[in-house]
Amino acid sequence: MIQIGETRISLDRREAGADLDFISHAHSDHVAAAKNSSAVVSSDQTGQLVECAYGLKPNRVGLPENMRLLDAGHMLGSKQLYIESPSGRRIIYTGDFNLGFNKTARPIEVSGCDILIMDSTYYGPEFNFGDKPSAEMKMVEWIKGRLERGSIIFSAYKMGKAQELISIFNDADIAPIVSDKVGSISKVYQYNGVNLKYSAIAENMENESNFVGITENRNFSAFSSVLARLRGIPVYTAMASGFAKIWKMGTDMQFVVSDHADFAQSLQYIKSTGARQVYTYGQSSRLFADNLCKEGYSAEPLPEEIRFD
Ligand SMILES: [Zn+2]
Repeated sequence: MIQIGETRISLDRREAGADLDFISHAHSDHVAAAKNSSAVVSSDQTGQLVECAYGLKPNRVGLPENMRLLDAGHMLGSKQLYIESPSGRRIIYTGDFNLGFNKTARPIEVSGCDILIMDSTYYGPEFNFGDKPSAEMKMVEWIKGRLERGSIIFSAYKMGKAQELISIFNDADIAPIVSDKVGSISKVYQYNGVNLKYSAIAENMENESNFVGITENRNFSAFSSVLARLRGIPVYTAMASGFAKIWKMGTDMQFVVSDHADFAQSLQYIKSTGARQVYTYGQSSRLFADNLCKEGYSAEPLPEEIRFD
């Protein structure tokens, strides 16, 4: 928890004693405050996605005058929190963020600051995702090569990654079949002006042609009834994630397509903000801080409680 003047703010957590709970975006590991906080700060889209995905209606409040939300480039509605302290210090908390192009999210807003609190998901130089457009092109070529012979099912996080995949496939004139959960979240994207073309499993029970499917379910069971019609035809499985860089995903193919900044992007981001002090936040904060120190930055994990006046 951070304290700015007299205001205590929790960042993507639910912490006792906080005056405000910031929810940067709607991924499940960031929305603990949606359940019973009386003062949530988030974007409208995050509020809508939380309601759709988890059935919770966050008690959202307006932003104090010294705070602003900046786009984070990670998924629909993802925001960073910008705060000015009483003495004029500028503080930014990134949440999950991405500097690369993502058709389903607004591009990141980079603002100057003195103190940066950063997400630590991809904490070291081993996370180098390379050029995203060429990774996407490779993925589409792989799909087109297989689609002549059989069907392809992608496993993807139901919110954010699934919609980004739909959009990438649409650019290649492919409208995927999606699971019910992916479909209901995609409707929130469409409501907010993101153009996505897909169809639901229920509309494809009689489908006998090869298809590309997207499901949040790693065992692909959501597609079993549709797949039963394709007996004897190959079914290829695939996954797209930043963790595909270092882990085997257990699918026929895996692609390094991430909606997060890799380590090089994090360095580039710190430099662009001009921050003099970096606090790392999240599970790998120690590793991330050590790696940033090696690069010459002043960095340490965010303490449990810290006050900026
Ligand atoms: Zn996220």
